[in-house]
Order: sequence, then structure tokens, then C-alpha cells
Amino acid sequence: MAKKTTNTGNGSLPRCFFCGRTQDDGAMLLQGESGFICTDCVYTAADYLKNMGVPNPGAYQQEEAEPGIDKKKGLQLLSPKEINDFLDQYVIGQDRAKKLLSVAVYNHYKRIKYNESQSGRKDGKKTGRGLREISDVEGVEIEKSNILLVGPTGTGKTLLARTIARLLNVPFAIVDATVLTEAGYVGEDVENILTRLLQDADYDVAMAEKGIVFVDEIDKIARKGDNPSITRDVSGEGVQQAMLKLLEGTVVNVPPKGGRKHPEQAMVPVNTKNILFICGGAFEGIEKIIGQRLNTQVIGFGAQKIRDNIDTDNLLKYIAPQDLRSYGLIPEIIGRLPVIATLGSLDRQAMLDILTKPKNAIMKQFEKIFELDGIKLVVDGNVLDLIVDTAIKHKLGARGLRSICEAIMTDAMYEAPTSSKKEFRVTMDYAKKHLSTITGEVLS
Ligand code: ADP
Repeated sequence: MAKKTTNTGNGSLPRCFFCGRTQDDGAMLLQGESGFICTDCVYTAADYLKNMGVPNPGAYQQEEAEPGIDKKKGLQLLSPKEINDFLDQYVIGQDRAKKLLSVAVYNHYKRIKYNESQSGRKDGKKTGRGLREISDVEGVEIEKSNILLVGPTGTGKTLLARTIARLLNVPFAIVDATVLTEAGYVGEDVENILTRLLQDADYDVAMAEKGIVFVDEIDKIARKGDNPSITRDVSGEGVQQAMLKLLEGTVVNVPPKGGRKHPEQAMVPVNTKNILFICGGAFEGIEKIIGQRLNTQVIGFGAQKIRDNIDTDNLLKYIAPQDLRSYGLIPEIIGRLPVIATLGSLDRQAMLDILTKPKNAIMKQFEKIFELDGIKLVVDGNVLDLIVDTAIKHKLGARGLRSICEAIMTDAMYEAPTSSKKEFRVTMDYAKKHLSTITGEVLS
């Protein structure tokens, strides 16, 4: 075991075997059998190994669990109702999507445990608990059901996926499908999706293999039009084919640091079989396709009655796999996204709720920020209306709520740490004055 040391006693100062520094240079040296190493080099080497994905069974890695994921706690298998209740605390509205997602996520992790217990059974181990209803069906391998979330931008698709990952205590990565499009080098980018997941799992491959990946803007890799192009198709089918492999389950050699900048890095094989892919997209214009289908489908006796019952303002909720096909997703991808949940636009009330109701609501976060400087934040009720109306007026959606709040409160946050005030009150006049600096208009 290496120990802290001072001098070799032979006249020459001990140096770090790696960087050559001595204690006089500020190095803290540890002595080994035949030389010294400084603590800086130990940490550099540890970081290097970690980034290379070399597993470390020792205590050092145990203590370094990624914030957000409690490695000791492991995967939390919760019932759909428990998942739904948790989502309710963070996501406003979107009840149908929450329910579908809760069931799909529960089934996904139940499937992992079941399949594990099946292989355990073959090895003579006991079947896992809580799986009574299916464990008697011998030899059935339950297939993976990835999820597709369809809805306008800023309606909570990413938020839903992120919240679920946090609840289940699994690694989570977000990737934008449009990046895959632009780079052209499909294979490499697709591997990079998993790099992020691996990093979030703190290079624990087994954990990453049970993680959740949110693929945003999946609609942007849809082939435009229904006819396949014979020319090179960077933005369409090529990317979809690469995505398909991941969705289906394959072993990918992942560069632990990502990209091509580190050719020396050893690749880490990651199996995507148990990774849950939640894809999201706005699918702008798909309502037209849905509408056309509904119109042509509903013919014959009673057709008028059915047509009258169709909620034409919310056609999205009738979305079916064939609409995605017409939109340009290849059938194989659609087949791998059997759970389709739609999210509706957020109305004014929902936006108001987003400001104050979720567990980490924007206003609660600002209250905390001021509280940390010993200041109580008080926001007049009508200021919340102003924030929401500004977001709606400038078509910023829920995503804009935060930046509007920032604009109103930046000056106050600048003063807060040095201020002797115990309360900061945001009145309508104060809010309008500060908002006009970003909207450029004088608010009366
Ligand atoms: P997208 O549907 O484009 O993925 P996001 O989930 O990224 O939208 O939403 C952007 C932000 O807007 C979120 O971080 C959150 O603050 C807010 N938001 C959007 N929808 C909701 C919702 N239904 N409930 C609570 N907050 C929401």
C-alpha cells in the first residue's frame, strides 16, 4: 500500500515518477515499491480510466455516483399508478399521455425483470417476485415497446421523459434527431447517442443498458413525401435505418468520450436491447393527413354520425400508424414505436399552472433563488397573468415562461446578494417596465 512520504534520505529529492515534480514543487507524493507518484497524477489517471470506460470495482467509483442517479438504490420498479402520480407532481395536464406512458414504462421494466428472471430460471435461480401473472408462461420473451410522443413543441414531451427517468433512478440522455441529419455520418452520430447515456450512468455499462433515451424531433428525419427518393437521402431513410437498429436492440461499440477527437479511446460495447427509447416530435401538418384518412375511411351507413362526432379541432388524438407512414416514417420504425401518445397544446390556464403548481414550478425556483440571499419574493397575482399573456402573444409557449421571468427579475437578482432588503415585491408596474426591455414595446 502506498503511503505518504517526505524524503528518500539519499540526498536527492523524491519526484513523481509520472510528472517529475517534487514536494518543493507543491506535489504531494505517495510512495510505492520502487518510486513515487503525486496525488495529481493519481487523479488524472483515475479520470482517464473513467473516461475510457474501464470499470472500477473499488470504493472510489462507488462514492462518485452521478448526481441524480443513486447507484446503490438501483432501478425502482413502480406501478403505473405510482408513475402517473409522480408525473402529476411535475407535468401539468396531458393526462392521457401520462397514463399511456406510465403503463408503457411499467411494462418495459417489468419485461426486463421478467426476462432476467427467465434466464435466471434457466440457470436454476429463483424467479423474481412480483411477476406471478406472467412467470408461468414459459419461454415467452416479451418484446420491447418504445414510445412515441406526438405534440406541439413546448408541451412537455421532454419533461415527461426526463421526469420518468428521475423517478425510476435510471440514466437518461436527450438527443436531437436533427443532429443525425446534418452530420451525414449516420453511424457515428448514432453511437454518440449512447455515449451520453454512458456518461450519465457514470460509465456503468450495466446501468446504461437499462436507461432511457429521449430522441427529440424524430419527425425531422421522416422522408418527405410518400415516395422513396433514389438520390442520396441523408435526411431520411438512412438515418431512420440507423435509428431502427438502436430501437430494435443491437450491440453498439460506443466511444466513451464521443466523437472522433479521441481515436485512442477503447470502445465500450453497449447492448440497446433493454434501453427504452422515447421519441418525440411535433409532426407539424400531420393533422391534415389524419383528417383525410378519417374522411375517406368513414363511408357508408352511419358515416355522417361518426363524422359529426369527430373532434375536428383536435385531430391529433386520432393519430394512427398509417398517418406516420404517410408522413414519411418507415414502417419498420413505426413498428418499433407501438405506443403512441399525443400531447395537446397548453391553454392559458395550463400555462398559469405551470408557473406555480408543479413541484419545481418556475416561481418556486425563483422564490428559492431569492431566499438563498435572505430575501422573500412576493409576486402580485396579475403579474402572473402578464407573464402568461406575454408568452402567448409572442408565441413562446411554456418554454418562454422562464425567459420572461428572468427578464423581469434579472436586475433584482443582480442586487440581491448586496441588498439589505428583506422582501422583493414584483408589482405590475415593475414587471411591465422590465419586460419592455426585452419586448421592445411599452406596456400600458
Ligand atoms: P417539448 O414538448 O418541446 O419537449 P418541453 O418538455 O421541453 O417541451 O417543455 C419545455 C418547458 O416548458 C419545460 O421545461 C417546462 O418548464 C415547461 N412545460 C411544458 N409543458 C409542460 C407541462 N405540461 N407541465 C409543466 N411544465 C411544462
